[in-house]
Amino acid sequence: MDAYDELMARLKDIDLISQVGGLVGWDQEVMMPPKAAGLRAEQLSWISRTGHEMITDSRIGELLSDLESRDDLDEIQAGNLRLARESYDKATKLPTEFVGELAKHQSKSQVSWTEARAADDFSIFRDDLAKMIDMCRQKADYLGYEDLRYDALLDLYESGLTVARVDPLFAGLRENVAPLVKAVVERGERPDMAFVDDNKWGQTGQEALSQAVSEAIGFDFKAGRRDASTHPFCGGSNPDDVRWTTRYSETDPFGSLYGSMHETGHGLYEQGRPRNLDFQPAGQANGLGVHESQSRLWENQVGRSREFCEWVLPLWQEHFPDFMEGVSADDLWRAVNLVEPSMIRVEADEATYNLHIMIRYEIEKRLIAGEIEVDDLPDAWDDMYEEFLGIRPPNRTLGVLQDIHWSFGAFGYFPTYTLGNLYSAQLLEAARKVLPDHDEQMRRGEFGPLLAWMREHVHARGSILEPAALIEEATGSPPSPDAFVTYLRDKVERLYNVTA
Ligand code: ZN
Repeated sequence: MDAYDELMARLKDIDLISQVGGLVGWDQEVMMPPKAAGLRAEQLSWISRTGHEMITDSRIGELLSDLESRDDLDEIQAGNLRLARESYDKATKLPTEFVGELAKHQSKSQVSWTEARAADDFSIFRDDLAKMIDMCRQKADYLGYEDLRYDALLDLYESGLTVARVDPLFAGLRENVAPLVKAVVERGERPDMAFVDDNKWGQTGQEALSQAVSEAIGFDFKAGRRDASTHPFCGGSNPDDVRWTTRYSETDPFGSLYGSMHETGHGLYEQGRPRNLDFQPAGQANGLGVHESQSRLWENQVGRSREFCEWVLPLWQEHFPDFMEGVSADDLWRAVNLVEPSMIRVEADEATYNLHIMIRYEIEKRLIAGEIEVDDLPDAWDDMYEEFLGIRPPNRTLGVLQDIHWSFGAFGYFPTYTLGNLYSAQLLEAARKVLPDHDEQMRRGEFGPLLAWMREHVHARGSILEPAALIEEATGSPPSPDAFVTYLRDKVERLYNVTA
């Protein structure tokens, strides 16, 4: 067998193992009975260990060296080779025993995080989190870094990302976004939320609305599922099997719909991957920042536009006829765009969202560097919310226990959310140049043309290019916060008639 074909065959087996891991992980969040937690930890540990043994096989190292000397590779082959080299190098630096131990601890601490969150008691999660932070430091040391330990972790989620690159980005956003939020808060004008607050929103209607909107946007339910889980996510294994979840609240019907549009965006990306590259690294969705750009696109750029609200109003009326009586598209638009500092990141508005991310980024940086101790973390969290958002969480569930990420050791993940916001604005700005009727299409519920643009310029390109190169190819410019800042400033001015 040709060296390239042999490498692809081995990578296919590794991808299959990770697909099975994805399904078992989905089951853990959605279906698994509580007593199975220990067993599930063993299963996930085995899957992770086996995948690790396969990617670290010395034969892969030989094949890579052999192929890297060839100069006749096309764009896709070169992409596969680059990605396989990255995975091989990252994996060979981590001892197999450490990888298994980490996976086992991930399952254990996800369970204690869930319990701690339900009981509003940080002490239940404390020891598992402390061990997880230690393991992540150890992981960074195995992987290596030039400047900061945290850089090694950032690089896991977006290739080449460092504190030196992220710091100025957040500084730029803080400069432009914080004054906008301040101006809105000072103006003190709140849209009329009575129709939201005065009603008890049943789950059945919310489910029907989520389903209808997800279908209309283009999610293929013959190749995917919608379920409920504590923390919404999108997973599954392959474009033929994409699974996303949402959660329902009687007091906030927007959480489930916009959460659904967010996860649908992730799902559409997964379903749009290039099928001729199934099981190949270049056929996977690109870095987490690009993935998040697709969820944010449908959730915010589309879902919170004035035109979308006009289209979706009849669906709200159909599923909640009594509650929506007398509510206009303009009322709905103002309500779904309420700019107000709040505790929960996943329910935050577009203007304050990146401040939530900035807080997590600053805390992670200090935790990994040992500048914050685990016992001081809950209060450090609350202090930063007070400093940046002017509010203090009343309990741990709404504070430090709200996100699942740290329970599985995903330090370095949060900044990709902000990258996603920036990319989504930049991509839509580019798409609008060839879709002059974009706003009208949204008003009519014609989502096909925008999805087709994303399919062609983002989804079908898989991971052939590095994330920054993909954004530049799709939009004509390298990643920049400009489109996002312009978009947000324009929107807040229209909503609140304020300038900053
Ligand atoms: Zn997301």
